[in-house]
Amino acid sequence: MDKKEQIKFASLALGCKTNQYELDALNDEAAAAGFQTVAADDVADVYVLNSCTVTAEAGRKCRQMLRRFRKQNPEALIVCSGCHSELYDLGSLCDLSIGTVGRSQLLDEIIARLAEAEAPDAEPLRQERFVVETENPLWRQYEELSGTAYAEETRAYLKIQDGCDNRCSYCATTLARGPARSRRPEAIIREAERLVAANYGELVLTGTNLNSYACDWQRHDPESPGLIDLLEELNRIPGLIRLRLSSIDAAGIISDEFMKRYAGMERACPHFHLSLQSGCNKILRAMRRRDTRESFRMAVQTIRKYLPKAGISTDIIVGFPGETEEDFQETMDFCEEMNFMRIHVFRFSRREDTAAYDMPDQLHGDIKRERAERMHALAEQLAHRAIDKSLGESRSVLAERDDELGRWHGYTEDYLPAIVLPDKVGAISRGDLLKVRLCERCDSFVIARVSD
Ligand code: SF4
Repeated sequence: MDKKEQIKFASLALGCKTNQYELDALNDEAAAAGFQTVAADDVADVYVLNSCTVTAEAGRKCRQMLRRFRKQNPEALIVCSGCHSELYDLGSLCDLSIGTVGRSQLLDEIIARLAEAEAPDAEPLRQERFVVETENPLWRQYEELSGTAYAEETRAYLKIQDGCDNRCSYCATTLARGPARSRRPEAIIREAERLVAANYGELVLTGTNLNSYACDWQRHDPESPGLIDLLEELNRIPGLIRLRLSSIDAAGIISDEFMKRYAGMERACPHFHLSLQSGCNKILRAMRRRDTRESFRMAVQTIRKYLPKAGISTDIIVGFPGETEEDFQETMDFCEEMNFMRIHVFRFSRREDTAAYDMPDQLHGDIKRERAERMHALAEQLAHRAIDKSLGESRSVLAERDDELGRWHGYTEDYLPAIVLPDKVGAISRGDLLKVRLCERCDSFVIARVSD
């Protein structure tokens, strides 16, 4: 038996879909190399954390997980990759720390470290931090991973780009992920085909900033293929059921041309997560966002012109430095006007080396908490409204998991969270695309019945 088969490999991704994609790809590589992959709360010989640094809380959670891994097995090789390890020296919290580039060599490095530790005169495991210098070419080209991101769920994430050239004043991600670099379309298509062949019905395109996809070659040839061309190619993959975009900015993507072609794709989901962050132009300027209230409103109108029933969700940061009660109320009113079906609410978090870190008028935590509660309440109200106005209508639901009552959970194409009551026991399997009628609302879920 190959020695590696006994070695237990555990991993965990914190943060965004891109982090999860990278970890799913690493797990596939590890399994292919003969490691026994186990759950992150099991006792393992190797632990890998793909870290996040979007908020101070995310960073704290990363350090907490590394301590927990050490406690689970003090002899284990503990590895940290991702945004938090890119920007912070984690010292003795892990044995091997790489940032956001160099993942394509990570498994080889792990295998080398394990072999070293096995050697008869092996030294105790030493802490090592690999941070690839910014002039390294790895920062200028998309880093292909050899593994395929076979997800645990029915939906698989598909990474299409990395990095971002914008400098939103609150954002540490752009500092950790480096300049925008796009993945070659042919590599994306090949992985998509492998995922569809493995019965992943829905593919969710992800990256640090999808708006930057193709910017690397379009800056030389503006007519060269962009995001909509890639979507149309993916839409043609036989066996694919659904195609979904993860978070995008309205500015630079949503146009009549884009929406006309998007609405023409039968597998493209009528759901857009349009990252707004604030509904107040004064705060949007301070955030150095590219959208204004007016450009965002125009984008939403354009989406609804071509896809009237499209679900539109968003991200909002409350408590940004200098945000007055009036500014916040403007954001609340704007969210109501946009009628978002879902709002992810974040409290502003000061991140070192970002422009907002040193901005005056930092707000007290109590104010942030109170505004977050009010925004959550509005978000719930709007989520209920989105479901209530769809009752009686038909949708499809991709069956993701069943519960103890034999009901199936999943999402409609416009991203309403649904619970499907099966018409007969055992009639539904995971990954089935169900034709349903939306019957009633239960909290923030829509209860649906299979329809003919
Ligand atoms: S667009 Fe802004 S928020 Fe998004 S990754 Fe880039 S800098 Fe960060």
